[in-house]
Amino acid sequence: MEHIYCDVCKKEVHDPVPEFSFFEFAHVGVCESCRDDLNAAIKLTVKEKSPFNFAWYDDLRMQVLKQGMQKGRIEARRSR
Ligand SMILES: [Zn+2]
Repeated sequence: MEHIYCDVCKKEVHDPVPEFSFFEFAHVGVCESCRDDLNAAIKLTVKEKSPFNFAWYDDLRMQVLKQGMQKGRIEARRSR
């Protein structure tokens, strides 16, 4: 049986279902709760930054993912 681990929190994802309980962004695998944090983190920036453009959206998502992998979690709320 294949074991799948979240690249951000490093926890094992049990019974991973692609697009439901396990998500992949450019070869980075994330579990459901990290995906929620990722979306929340992106949402904050998307609100401030307009007009919307997929070029910076993809860059932003990778940036948040990389930071999340280094810290072991994605910070959905920025500390001031
Ligand atoms: Zn995770």
